[in-house]
Amino acid sequence: MTATAPITQDVLTLPRKLPEGGKVNIVGLTREQLRAALIAAGTPEKQAKMRLGQIWQWVYHWGVRDFAVMTNLAKDYRAFLAEHFTIEIPEVVSRQVSADGTRKYLVRIAGGHEVETVYIPEENRGTLCISSQVGCTLTCSFCHTGTQKLVRNLTAGEIVGQVMLARDDLGEWPVPGAPKDETRLVSNVVLMGMGEPLYNFDNVRDAMQVVMDNEGLTLSRRRITLSTSGVVPEIARAAEEIGCLLAVSFHATTDEVRDKLVPINKRWNIETLLNTLRDYPRLSNSERITFEYVMLKGVNDTDADARRLVKLISGIPAKINLIPFNEWPGAPYERSDWERIEAFADIVYKAGYASPIRTPRGEDIMAACGQLKSATERARKSSKEIAAEAGL
Ligand code: SAH
Ligand code: SF4
Repeated sequence: MTATAPITQDVLTLPRKLPEGGKVNIVGLTREQLRAALIAAGTPEKQAKMRLGQIWQWVYHWGVRDFAVMTNLAKDYRAFLAEHFTIEIPEVVSRQVSADGTRKYLVRIAGGHEVETVYIPEENRGTLCISSQVGCTLTCSFCHTGTQKLVRNLTAGEIVGQVMLARDDLGEWPVPGAPKDETRLVSNVVLMGMGEPLYNFDNVRDAMQVVMDNEGLTLSRRRITLSTSGVVPEIARAAEEIGCLLAVSFHATTDEVRDKLVPINKRWNIETLLNTLRDYPRLSNSERITFEYVMLKGVNDTDADARRLVKLISGIPAKINLIPFNEWPGAPYERSDWERIEAFADIVYKAGYASPIRTPRGEDIMAACGQLKSATERARKSSKEIAAEAGL
């Protein structure tokens, strides 16, 4: 396989509509799509807007999965909905809870494929890390998901469904009549699970539109962070069409090293990436970009790297998130020593950037960054292949 071959968007996405005669899953449809689907199924156009609002509230505010419960709709209309639509989210196959409270869900999606979703509780908030693809077309050499070939893109429903299944498990849907609890368990969403979100652009955008809608799940666009390895042409689009916060898997300060760690760099190198990033905050009207930087012993962790890093990003409103490398079986790298990570953080901090070191969470259940990989490893790459693709 050549270095650029895996970089492709041309992958299978399940059709949103089920085959002729099948039912349409409401979950993941944007308001506009749901309205159109209601009309296509026979809802009079004049009523569609009102029906849409009612259904939306049942599904995304109350977490209801059964049309029969939608008591503000006429009985006949509920029967009509049940005949044409479903309200389906992916199934949780297993749930592991780490000693630190992190929860990892193994989630089964149509076709029997599996992805992982991770919930990380923090004081007064909680972050849900969701997946956008089964596997990944990219082959970052330090990432466990990168060892799994891409199986398929998730549908918008499967992406939104991850937020809903976490709320199910955490018991977070509101209870009618109960006092409103302002502390949200799933207060933030990060697209940092399996897959490259910008290679599944339309579904990720539609899903985020549903999640950000101000009636229903109501997560503001500032509570959603999309992490990309650097798919340059899609970054400006993300600013305009999604508008959430952006994180970039930067990880190296020279093209030579980045080519090996994040092979997409061979297509869009550091300079090209940075030029695009300079425009993101203005285009998306957001404050800072997060630069993710995985600390790999002897590879990208010197003082000179830290100094180059701050020089490269100067002028970009940024925060640098240092991620101690999370090991996985067969990984060709080691985590930098703690003193090294701190020395690196110090240089970055003194240059005026926030430089939090991401505390690994859920390591005991392989739920930490880059450790995700589902049990269905139909097309596993060999460690030789990984090393060859990374040019190691
Ligand atoms: N594909 C996207 C999002 C998923 S990866 C991306 O690459 O940005 C989420 C973050 O975890 C990325 O910054 C990724 O580089 C990092 N990561 C991957 N493997 C890791 C590992 N083994 N240890 C620490 N961080 C890792
Ligand atoms: Fe894919 Fe991101 Fe892993 Fe790279 S780091 S292989 S882009 S999931």
